[in-house]
Amino acid sequence: MNRKLLTVLLPLFCWLSLPAQYYHAQQHPLPILNKEFSVVAHITLDTVGSAGITETEILESFDTLNYYFKPIGLSFEICEFRYIDNFQYNSPLNTNEWAEMQAKYHQNNRINVFFVGNISWAPDDCGYSTQAGITMTEKGGIMMKKPCTANIPKSVAHEFGHYFGLFNTNEGFGAELVNGENCESEGDLICDTPADPYITGDTLVGKYLLLEGCRFILPELDANGEFYRPHVANIMSYYPEDCKCGFSYQQYIRMVETYRMVEGMW
Ligand SMILES: [Zn+2]
Repeated sequence: MNRKLLTVLLPLFCWLSLPAQYYHAQQHPLPILNKEFSVVAHITLDTVGSAGITETEILESFDTLNYYFKPIGLSFEICEFRYIDNFQYNSPLNTNEWAEMQAKYHQNNRINVFFVGNISWAPDDCGYSTQAGITMTEKGGIMMKKPCTANIPKSVAHEFGHYFGLFNTNEGFGAELVNGENCESEGDLICDTPADPYITGDTLVGKYLLLEGCRFILPELDANGEFYRPHVANIMSYYPEDCKCGFSYQQYIRMVETYRMVEGMW
């Protein structure tokens, strides 16, 4: 099958077919790291002292997370749940407060995930992650909105993607060209994730996607006059949960490379 056709068909396969199918396809074998990370789950309590999410819901979202990291032999085990009773941190107002939370609660040599009610400066995101945070063992972390964790669990894998050095597939909002000629310097800097023109916060369904399903319909063209063919199945995109089914081969390689920079520290 030629590559262009495969590019068009892959997301469809993934969406239509077996739930157990990964999307990266078996191009080449992936490196297997065989590493389990210990995670501290910090749950912020709201103004009435309610958690707003159960430990079971968090553990279930980690099953989804572990499924998507299994192809490179990474897994994440929650070793401890901690509760933060300062309700201010249930909805941090800005990145200064996020820095404060890390300074107060971060546990070294663990991946720290904070489950919060809202992230005011990231209204269109399910979480907020220290970019390539895995390269730091004494700071950084991931924030997940509680409703996303419970209802859109692939968003947890998305934030871990950032934590392992990946960018959103629509990074730069259309600067990456469809023909791939600038894929190493624009967009998400990864060449097997096609140019993705989605503008974060823009209406998705009816404009970028058909009302039903995952078919991409945006009629706009790139700077060369070519139609976009993004992978709506990619975990690092903003397309709906039901369309997503994994990371690409080169995204896995990038995550492995990011971790290997600091392997001895973990
Ligand atoms: Zn993202």
